[in-house]
Amino acid sequence: MIVMKFGGSSVQNEEAISRVISIVSTRLREKPVVVVSALAKVTRMLVEIAETAENQNIQRVQELLGQLRRRHFDLCASLLEGEILESASARLEQLFGSLESFVDGVCQIGELSPRSRARIVSTGELLSSTIVAAAMNQKGIICNWADARKMVITDSNYMGARPDLETTRANVRREIGEASRGADIVLTQGFIASTPEGWTTVLGFEGSDFTAAILGMALDAERVEIWTDVDGIRTADPRVVPDTQRIEAVSYDEAAEMAHLGARVLHPLTMGPARMKNIPIRVMNTMNPEGDGSWVTSAADTADGAKSVAFFTEIDFLEVFSDAMTGTARMLGTIMDSLRLYGVEPQIVGCSGQKVSLTFETGQEGLSKAVEAISGDYRTVLSRDRSQLSIVGRNVARIPGLSALIVESAKVYMIAEGADFQSISAVVDRTEVKDAVAALHGKLFNPEEGRKAVS
Ligand code: ADP
Ligand code: ASP
Ligand code: MG
Repeated sequence: MIVMKFGGSSVQNEEAISRVISIVSTRLREKPVVVVSALAKVTRMLVEIAETAENQNIQRVQELLGQLRRRHFDLCASLLEGEILESASARLEQLFGSLESFVDGVCQIGELSPRSRARIVSTGELLSSTIVAAAMNQKGIICNWADARKMVITDSNYMGARPDLETTRANVRREIGEASRGADIVLTQGFIASTPEGWTTVLGFEGSDFTAAILGMALDAERVEIWTDVDGIRTADPRVVPDTQRIEAVSYDEAAEMAHLGARVLHPLTMGPARMKNIPIRVMNTMNPEGDGSWVTSAADTADGAKSVAFFTEIDFLEVFSDAMTGTARMLGTIMDSLRLYGVEPQIVGCSGQKVSLTFETGQEGLSKAVEAISGDYRTVLSRDRSQLSIVGRNVARIPGLSALIVESAKVYMIAEGADFQSISAVVDRTEVKDAVAALHGKLFNPEEGRKAVS
């Protein structure tokens, strides 16, 4: 058995879905369980619908719902016919009816709880999976639809829920076992899940990769294939850096570190369940199915050295100063207690006797309050115009000269090595980050300069 996950751009329109069907049809002998995301940009649109409803802008809500309806029904009509079209359209009608009355309720009361938000944004995967499953059947692949909410059971952190892996494993085996009887494939949704009481939750944005790994773990799959729009994991984000190269293989730890530090080709939590059962992950390009892609496997199979340059264009950067010698334990204690209290996660932390520097992914609501709390005891400076870049790879922090390459690439406000030697990260000005990443990437991975740089 294998798990194949197709992201939003891989199921965005008729052409893309046809490609998915032909890719899946080459794997039928391996009994695929197929996981799909919402059509490209749909989740973002659902977030907008939820927030517009909270602001009671009914006219705009209706416009957006109308666009969403048209896109899905048009896609159905172009892919399906006869009875299959009828039953898929009836299911879409049901899903839209339920979404519309729910959104109407939010409009009426002007209030949006995390639970309501999760309920609204989960609709994208329910819609896309209905269409893709019907399209498979239309093409003669016998496909059963399974409900991820009956399988993946989570806590009640609605928008970033964490699964109970034991319960989930039992559910997945039961549901997939039943659904695969008499079918060529089973198709289900990424991203969406539910609490034990049956309230819908989601695993966090981009969380469909995580679902695929959870299913892979639960089913003891031979491998998990993540199908996306790039030729595997690359030496940097190809949308930003020219001349990137495909990476043959990285370890689970390297892939998790890359994702944590901004290389978001895989969701950072994906590697956890895969590692538990040593299930290889293969990242493949839907536009180039014959390509080799990249493997994520156990560390034993991969070499040491710089693999990739990752970055976050937008981070918040906090510097905390102690003028008196109050002690590092007390200072770190105050900082971490405040961050925990307001639910804020730091990215990287650098520490010296009288100063602690931290970076944060932007958009964390509790940060201002946490900084206010820390400021009661220490002087703080919070900068919102910085970026973060990192070199990632097994033992990179042990390679002489790599920090120097970073310092040469831009003015640096903080530099920190990962405790496991897998990364060196720096904070730079936002105006400099793209050029700095490209320069660093050139030196590391351009064959001529690279050899000089890393040896
Ligand atoms: P999907 O919709 O299939 O989940 P994503 O947009 O989430 O796709 O992830 C694929 C994107 O990840 C690529 O288009 C690319 O821009 C980005 N990316 C960032 N860093 C890397 C990297 N090191 N290697 C490959 N892709 C990367
Ligand atoms: N559709 C969800 C999102 O856009 C999950 C995913 O694509 O992985 O975040
Ligand atoms: Mg993704």
